[in-house]
Amino acid sequence: MKKPELLAPAGNMNKLETAIRFGADAVYAAAKEYGLRAFADNFTFDELKRAAELLHSQGRKLYVTVNTYADERDLKGLEEFAERLSDTGADAALVSDLGVFSIMKKYAPGLQLHVSTQANVTNSAAAAMWADLGASRIVLARETQLKDIPAIKRGAGVEIEAFVHGAMCIAYSGRCLLSAYFTDRSGNRGECVQSCRWQYGITELSRGETLPIEEDKRGTYLLSSKDLCLIEYLHELADAGVDSFKIEGRIKSEYYVAGVVNAYRRAIDDMAAGRPFDVRLLEEMQKISHRGYTTGFYFGERGGSTGEPKPTASYDFIAVVTEGGDGYAEVEMRNRFAAGDTLEVLSPTDTFGRTFTVTEIENSAHERVLVADKVQERVKLRTGMCLEKYDILRRSCRT
Ligand code: SF4
Repeated sequence: MKKPELLAPAGNMNKLETAIRFGADAVYAAAKEYGLRAFADNFTFDELKRAAELLHSQGRKLYVTVNTYADERDLKGLEEFAERLSDTGADAALVSDLGVFSIMKKYAPGLQLHVSTQANVTNSAAAAMWADLGASRIVLARETQLKDIPAIKRGAGVEIEAFVHGAMCIAYSGRCLLSAYFTDRSGNRGECVQSCRWQYGITELSRGETLPIEEDKRGTYLLSSKDLCLIEYLHELADAGVDSFKIEGRIKSEYYVAGVVNAYRRAIDDMAAGRPFDVRLLEEMQKISHRGYTTGFYFGERGGSTGEPKPTASYDFIAVVTEGGDGYAEVEMRNRFAAGDTLEVLSPTDTFGRTFTVTEIENSAHERVLVADKVQERVKLRTGMCLEKYDILRRSCRT
């Protein structure tokens, strides 16, 4: 079996380096213009160039999202954008709009063209059409069923990419007006505020009275989908012809990127080596923020169920290592911690669950303190073990 690619999201350079450290084969990112996820940090052309060089030096790839649905205003400057993107050394552009596709093809001939999930490819005829137009890869719509993938792959004759993990839309692969309706920020232009996660009720129109609908004591979340998780089914996807396993989440934290990439890296390597699925990876999935898990549409028409309120995780993201070392490390804080706390290390070199108890903390003013509580402050810690840059520290929510 050809080992499928593991494709990770990167909202900024730190997340990109985290993805590399934890084993991604390729990374997708957005330029400051034309990429969905306008709220992710996104990359300047210089940053994309640096990212491409870094990834290529390690035999990995960079794909850049240009998957906005363009209106006439967006076309202005797109030709120059395509040329500059081509100069960054990125490997491919990810496109959903036919007009953008044609301009990228003409002005960025050095870039491969991948068809975004927003183009909603769910059948072999659509895939073959895109391939005829020059696409080298199709990212399947999330609504695609597993049993249809072999025919789509045969029809297209090009690479197939499929989402295996991350948030789902309640609308058809992101074609949604909720956010634009409530806030004038369009999901189809990369500005979604995730209105589907809000709490909804029923309004009795003649009196304007809102009736609560309660699923649990927090209310009801009719439109909020569970997150996709296919970690147990990678073999089935690979057998069906999927060449690239994609993780959603460019606006999510370094912890999310590290945890999800780490788990899928191990699952793919085990699968390729003929080892059985390691059930500890399911526990890993619970440690990372999620809204309950679903296998989406892969195994049936119905798709992901809804009604999940806030994201949960069994572990909190405490800090990211900014300078490794043997016995001591400098870390950048994300959540309060104190002397006496037991922290767990998430590292690509670890077996699961290496822990240490915090004894010494030195703050950024070089003072010994008992508590670290300033988010993003860099503090030094005695760890009693060897840690490396971009390793993650986390703490069980039960302690
Ligand atoms: S509001 Fe929800 S369903 Fe709509 S585009 Fe945003 S995330 Fe997707």
